[in-house]
Amino acid sequence: MTRAGSSPSLGSSWGERGFHTVLVYNTKTRTKEEFIPQRSGEVRAYICGPTVYDYCHIGHARTYINFDVLRRYLEATGYDFIHVQNFTDVDDKITKRAAERGITPTQLSDEFIEEYFRDMDALNVKRASRYTRASDYIGKIVEITERLMAKGIAYRSGGTVYFDVEGAGGFGELVSGIEGAVTDPIMSLGKRGPFDFVLWREGGEAEQSWDSQIGRGRPGWHTECVAMAMDSLGEVLDIHWGGMDLIYPHHECSALVARAITGKPFARYWMHNNFVTLSGEKMSKSAGNTAYIKDVLEGFRAEVLRTYLLSKGYRERMEYSEAGMERMEKTYDLMVEGAAEARKGGGGAGVSSCIKEYADAFFGALDDDLETGQALAVVERLSWEITGGAPDKDFAGASRIYDAVEGVLGIKLGR
Ligand SMILES: [Zn+2]
Repeated sequence: MTRAGSSPSLGSSWGERGFHTVLVYNTKTRTKEEFIPQRSGEVRAYICGPTVYDYCHIGHARTYINFDVLRRYLEATGYDFIHVQNFTDVDDKITKRAAERGITPTQLSDEFIEEYFRDMDALNVKRASRYTRASDYIGKIVEITERLMAKGIAYRSGGTVYFDVEGAGGFGELVSGIEGAVTDPIMSLGKRGPFDFVLWREGGEAEQSWDSQIGRGRPGWHTECVAMAMDSLGEVLDIHWGGMDLIYPHHECSALVARAITGKPFARYWMHNNFVTLSGEKMSKSAGNTAYIKDVLEGFRAEVLRTYLLSKGYRERMEYSEAGMERMEKTYDLMVEGAAEARKGGGGAGVSSCIKEYADAFFGALDDDLETGQALAVVERLSWEITGGAPDKDFAGASRIYDAVEGVLGIKLGR
């Protein structure tokens, strides 16, 4: 497979666009870098999934929709995209919520995994190559913990096993760039260093716990993701994605564990999307400041929510409001009209110079770190012009841009 020139062009179909330079922002280096996977033509990516004790809110939707666009775009560029997502089904919040409802943690997790798929299917998020559940990986997690103990990078304190952050070295340099800037680590009894974190927590009968050769207990969150990602995708990921609240400590600590085992970096590109705020505050279940996807979809079409969540680049903070969604309905309807107009002639003719310019702007925005907001602005302007705003222009070939809105941005335009 060869890599072609760097400027985007519009072929008669997506497949003809071929390989070209795509820039992505790497949290680790804090720069936009050319995306080059380890294996020619193949991308291996991991995205941290939700903790399944409640419905997903639109902050979750933004995470999975943006990742879905990355996937669709790289697929359209010609890559095979292998993508694993976990469900965190071992967590205190799950144990607590299940006990309150008088059901088992597994029953609770099953229920909210089903709800997750209901929401994401509605939002046209493609399914992962594989979904993993932390509870299925206890054996692997214990194995990792034992290996780290054997290497002297993990230590036992009572029944709990901690990762020795100072012993491993490089803390703060692997993903987050915090390098000790965190001043309020939790110093609990039995820890040697303030940043040491739990690999295996001693647990009693009342909690989710498992018998193992390192004692009865349950795994720490960071090790879960390392075990699931490596088992499914190999030692080094091409892309590791998550919401930016996961940069520290989760991704920093996961990267430390992975590197301690393999001696290699956990991921080549660390990508993180920004928050959705509600009345200026980060959406959070614990603060009761939440717009659930299922509730939003009672008042608005799923395509409108998807368009809204892509109307800014993934690294920008985004405010959610009903007034904003009402405005977005008009934008979306205009794009649907534009698509219908563009497809009237069957799209068999060539591509006009005006549409070539639109295509360059649209694909150029996506090539530049997935600037979905700019790409949508291009489509909005085209839609205004093609539906009567610019009667003298030649729009031959415009249907291909609308095909890309559906295929790559994943926004259905009512066919
Ligand atoms: Zn994770």
